[in-house]
This record gives sequence, C-alpha cells and structure tokens, in this order.
Amino acid sequence: MVKQFSKNSPIHRARRKRHSAGSRRGPLEKCLGMKKRHAIPGSVADGLLYEADRTCCICHSPHKAVQLHHIDGNPGNKDPRNLAVLCLDHHDEASKGPGHGRGLTPRQIRKYMDNWLRTVKVRRATEAGARTHPTVKIAHELIMDALSAHEIRKVRSRLIAASWDKRLQLLVLLDPYTDFRYGYDARIEFLYTLSDLADQTRTGMTHEVADMINQLAVSILPIFSLQRPANRKPKKKDIRLLRQAIHIGSTMAYDAAKYLRDMRVAAAGANVLWEVLRFAHVNKLRELKREVLSEFRSLENEAEVGGFSEGKRWFEFECLDALALEGHLQPKLPAGIAANKSQIESKRIT
Ligand SMILES: [Zn+2]
Repeated sequence: MVKQFSKNSPIHRARRKRHSAGSRRGPLEKCLGMKKRHAIPGSVADGLLYEADRTCCICHSPHKAVQLHHIDGNPGNKDPRNLAVLCLDHHDEASKGPGHGRGLTPRQIRKYMDNWLRTVKVRRATEAGARTHPTVKIAHELIMDALSAHEIRKVRSRLIAASWDKRLQLLVLLDPYTDFRYGYDARIEFLYTLSDLADQTRTGMTHEVADMINQLAVSILPIFSLQRPANRKPKKKDIRLLRQAIHIGSTMAYDAAKYLRDMRVAAAGANVLWEVLRFAHVNKLRELKREVLSEFRSLENEAEVGGFSEGKRWFEFECLDALALEGHLQPKLPAGIAANKSQIESKRIT
C-alpha cells in the first residue's frame, strides 16, 4: 500500500501531498516494523489514474476512493507495470495475497488491470465518436473499417514472407489497429493475420513473437470485463472473433508443447485461451466454454504424452485459474515454471 486517493477530499489531498513529498516511516510504522513507504513519482501516479479513470480495475465501481497497489508486493518497484488501481476493499483483499488460497493473485490483478485500461481506452474513443452526427459516424466507420482491413491485409502478406525476426518488427505495424474499436472486417482480418503466424509456430516461433501475438490478439477481442457479465449479450460476430482467438491460442500452445518445447511460447498461447475461457465462463457462454475446455484438455494430453510436464502443469493451472472467480478458491501457481515471470510482467505494448 502506498498512496490513497479519493476524488477530492481534503484529507486525501493532504495525504497525497505528504506521500508525494516522499514521507518516511512514522514512529508507529517503525515500531510495528512496517515496510518503508516509497513515493510513486507524481507523473506516474497521475498518468495511471487517468488511464484507469480513477476507478478500481476489479469492481469498476465509480464512487469508491482508490489506491495504487504494488502488484509484486515490493513498494520499491515503481514500474507502472507493477501498479494497479484498486478500491480499498479490493486493495485489502489483494494485500492478503494468494497465500490463503482465496484473495487476489498478482497475476489476476495484472490481468484485471490490463483489461480495465483497455476498456477505458475504448470507452473514451467511443464517446468521442458518439459526438459526431449518426449518419456521418456510420459512413466514417464503414470507410475506416474497409481501409483498415485493406491495410492489415498488406501487412499480412508481408508477414507471411518474412523471417521470425523480421516478423517481430512487422507485427508492430498492427498495433495502431488495437487503439480504436474498428469494425468486424478489420478485426477479423487482424485475427486471421495472427492465425497465419500461429499456424507456423512449429517452424520456430520466438517467444518475443509469441508474446506480441498474445498481446495483440487479446487487445482486439470484444472482452470488456473478466469479472462480471458484459452489459450487452455478445453478438454472433463477437463469438466468431473469440473462436478465431481460440484457434490462435491453441495452435501456438499445442505446437510449442509438441515441437518446440518452449514454455514461454506455450504460455503465451495459453494466455489467449485463458482470456476467452474466463469471458465465456463469466458470461455463461456454454458452447464457447466447452470449446476452450476441450482445447485445454488436448493441450494437457499432448504435454503428458510428450513428457512435457512443465507444460502440462501450466495448462492445468491456467484452465483452473480462468474458472476461479474472485472470492473462490484459487489454484496454486505451479512452482519453478519459466513462464511465471513473463506472465506477470508486461503485457502492454509500449
Ligand atoms: Zn474494487
């Protein structure tokens, strides 16, 4: 726990001032042997609070005061990627840590935070678009959609012909298309492009490319909350996008387990499946959920048959973790797996 913010109360303002001035441990804190508090740079805190709309990334409650939470529990780590915006209740739950089996795990908080930042970004972009006249807006969207699908297709053909190293550079060209909710045509083209690469995983996909595909795929999906049902029922087109993501995630994870024996590539693929499974679970999309569960089963099976025990334990964990909602018993993070660190680390493209 480092800082506490509310919308405007003088107490919190004073407290904020004290903390940003780099407060030292008080006598009481020293007596109790509490951790030294480190001030988070004001620009980092302000930027993050703006990006998160000063709202808890877990409950999204608009009226609660929020705090910045150090995801790894180390108050000296001021990397913005290590900070999450939480309300007091969830901060409390997060501080208890996963040791009790319940409560929030660092990697779940990271996922919630990433997901919430995307949601705020999309909401702001959508609100900005809504101020335009409806007819102009629709025409504009159609043109944007067609143009972006066309541009993405160009990147797609270059990607196919490139080496894995070059592919990493080319994938960056897709990043702008995650910035705004383009229409279906652009988004499915985007996912087809990633599928092309996933289909070639066995030819030596690097873990850098795998991480990038994971980030890009997850950012384009119509997933707005990993904690509660979506406000509107997902449309058929949304489901089609999610199915394409299942293909990407499972192909990468399967080939990584079977041919590459690369834990990080396998974990990147499994993370895409985690997102879809979690979304299907929260929104009670039975069919979709069954599909992802069956993918996880074949992955576990493949890892077992191939003697890739690290992969098997990770797939089992990811599957259970996606189904364990807040307040329920959380599965234990398997120890000593190379993917753990990268899973908690940066997922955002900077
Ligand atoms: Zn909360």
